Amino acid sequence: MKVECYKCKKTIDLDRDLHVTLGTHNGKTTTQMLYFHWNCWRKHFEDKTREKAQNIVDGMQDRMMPIAKQMIGKLTDAIGSEKTYTIN
Ligand SMILES: [Zn+2]
Repeated sequence: MKVECYKCKKTIDLDRDLHVTLGTHNGKTTTQMLYFHWNCWRKHFEDKTREKAQNIVDGMQDRMMPIAKQMIGKLTDAIGSEKTYTIN
């Protein structure tokens, strides 16, 4: 049986080529079957992993920035009030 590789769009001979089959299941039936060459799968998986890692880093920056700004704001306030205190 021959199928198309999801990644490189080239033919996979399921009987001869090392491959990975990925089935999307909706709970009852398999709705979509994806086929990858083994090497394409590895590449695909590595890309996804990298993407995911990048998203986590981006998400962390998004979460950290307001906190960092808040801390800088508090620090500025503290310095400001200290100045006021010294002057008084
Ligand atoms: Zn392929």
